[in-house]
Amino acid sequence: MTIEIPTKLINSHRTNGVNGMQSNGHHKSGHSNGYTNGKHANGKNGVAQIGAMEEAENPYATPPEESYDPAFEALVAQMLERLGEDPERDGLKRTPLRVAKAMDFLTSGYKQSLAEVVNGALFEAEGQEMVIVRDIEFYSQCEHHMLPFFGKAHIGYIPNGNIIGLSKLARIVDVFARRLQVQERLTGQVADALVEILQPQGVAVVTEASHFCMMMRGVQKQNSFTISSAMRGIFKENASTRSEFMELVTHNR
Ligand SMILES: [Zn+2]
Repeated sequence: MTIEIPTKLINSHRTNGVNGMQSNGHHKSGHSNGYTNGKHANGKNGVAQIGAMEEAENPYATPPEESYDPAFEALVAQMLERLGEDPERDGLKRTPLRVAKAMDFLTSGYKQSLAEVVNGALFEAEGQEMVIVRDIEFYSQCEHHMLPFFGKAHIGYIPNGNIIGLSKLARIVDVFARRLQVQERLTGQVADALVEILQPQGVAVVTEASHFCMMMRGVQKQNSFTISSAMRGIFKENASTRSEFMELVTHNR
């Protein structure tokens, strides 16, 4: 009969650790509920609301249903099942929706046009000097495994009357990186886009990337990275222009 009292104490004062410990042997489930609720309440709503936690909605519970791309989400759910998972378990319930959204973003380059990205940020300029922007971060996905590859792009061009806002170079890289890609094509597409937009004397693009499909599977070479280059115009024709670019890009590394 003495056990009745600590049990009630636990139910109404869930953070009371001492009473919880005392009753542990006889009221295991009561104790563990109290612990769990208390922990959530402390993390989220503060101690004052602990008593109400039992009835209140769990703030960590799955939010109400919403749908983003039902057909795509069904495919992801099917894939999860195929992998031996239960798409209905708590942690995975919203995974198809999240994956659909993430994939949409990661492949958003398909829907962008160069014109809308450049958006008038072209300027007339007299200069004939080489313009270089290096270490432009990019994130892409290999088309063979749909696994990420990521790294840096270095871009150089020699104008022929037009220059472009420097931030636009990074945007142009994103247009082609946010697709299913191979690194060589990504590199070439960025170069060709700049030829089209700027009609310069020449364009040079070098990318260096780490590929998850090499790092996580297959040969599992974590520290190797792949370099790809695309030279257009004077960078292709003139070895000294090309080597000037390469020197500037690799300087201080
Ligand atoms: Zn791959």
